[in-house]
Amino acid sequence: MFLQGYRKEIFRPECNPQFQSLHCIAHLDDDVAEVLPYLNAVLGGHQYLKDPPALTLKVHGKLITLHPREIAINALKDEGEADKILEWLKQEINETWQKRDTIEPSFETPAQPRIFDILKLLPKTSCGECGQPTCMVFASLLAQGVKGADDCPQLDDQNRAEIAHYLKQFVFEL
Ligand code: SF4
Repeated sequence: MFLQGYRKEIFRPECNPQFQSLHCIAHLDDDVAEVLPYLNAVLGGHQYLKDPPALTLKVHGKLITLHPREIAINALKDEGEADKILEWLKQEINETWQKRDTIEPSFETPAQPRIFDILKLLPKTSCGECGQPTCMVFASLLAQGVKGADDCPQLDDQNRAEIAHYLKQFVFEL
């Protein structure tokens, strides 16, 4: 096994202790730097940095960043969600390392959703019903995975389905 285990630390963002979402840092027992470009190839990372190595994933609107000795996860609803994500990552790390001879490592940042591709499918009335000041702001939140197509009440079914289909290619399910 490449990654034996980790020590989990859960905290609320200091800037706003009332904020309901949690952050998690997992301190890893082993250095996972070597597996990161393989994981990037397998999971299609949101961003990959070479030096120092760091891989950011976006899963269900959460940003997860893997460093050689640390994993950081934001916007968690509770500790159970952190456990689920960390166990999934540990399994992915170990399986990917085991299969590395069959994987072409990737040192690139994969393609991201384009805000203008999303915007052209929105009503572009900037009515504010989604709680955002403009459709452009809403499109950028969709691209980040923070909002979903269902959050715009003005969308017709066809464009809602097209946006969901477009965004799906950039998202990973646990
Ligand atoms: S509800 Fe839809 S149409 Fe209205 S501002 Fe938000 S994204 Fe634009």
